[in-house]
Amino acid sequence: MRIGVIALQGGFAEHISILSRCGAGAYPVRLPSHIDDLDGIVIPGGESTSLKILMREYGLLEPLRELIGRGLPVFGTCAGMVLLAREPTDPDRSSLGAMNIEVDRNAFGRQADSFQSELSIPVLGDRPFPGVFVRAPVVRATDDGVQVLCRLSDGVIVAVQQENRLACSFHPELTNDLRFHKYFLSIDRGDVFAKSSYRRSQRAA
Ligand code: GLN
Repeated sequence: MRIGVIALQGGFAEHISILSRCGAGAYPVRLPSHIDDLDGIVIPGGESTSLKILMREYGLLEPLRELIGRGLPVFGTCAGMVLLAREPTDPDRSSLGAMNIEVDRNAFGRQADSFQSELSIPVLGDRPFPGVFVRAPVVRATDDGVQVLCRLSDGVIVAVQQENRLACSFHPELTNDLRFHKYFLSIDRGDVFAKSSYRRSQRAA
């Protein structure tokens, strides 16, 4: 399996490492040519505004939006979740806006308010999952087709799935627990995405 990891900013090296430990081929993505023939894409944590700007400057935003729209499975963590969220007011379409969720950035406060918490995530089994939260966003609202995978004990939503799109507020790539990444790899890829490359489709157009 070939999984691309957006490698412009933030925690991409950790995602590449944990995906490799899960047995997947993990490749850094910096240019549009790097998103050919992928079976999935990971948007890492980092700083979402910088990530948006860099993805636009490197020409990744439009091709990725199109590929995800055509069914390329995607997994966004922390800032990656912010990029996947739909922004009601996003006149310059600076985000991927691929999931029916609205998020609050930095919902727990500043860097010093980062924390760890044992999470109950039923799709990953009974054993608690180590949640590492670093200036994390939360999901404020969900809409059609979104399944909540995890809530904190106060009910706040921190992980969601919409078909083959996954997002979480925390950082599974900073733990030794492979279950979240394995779950992403196990998601039904069906025939929604026929491995057609962006470049090939551009040439054919
Ligand atoms: N607070 C960051 C943002 O909104 C996300 C932090 C992270 O990815 N660890 O961009």
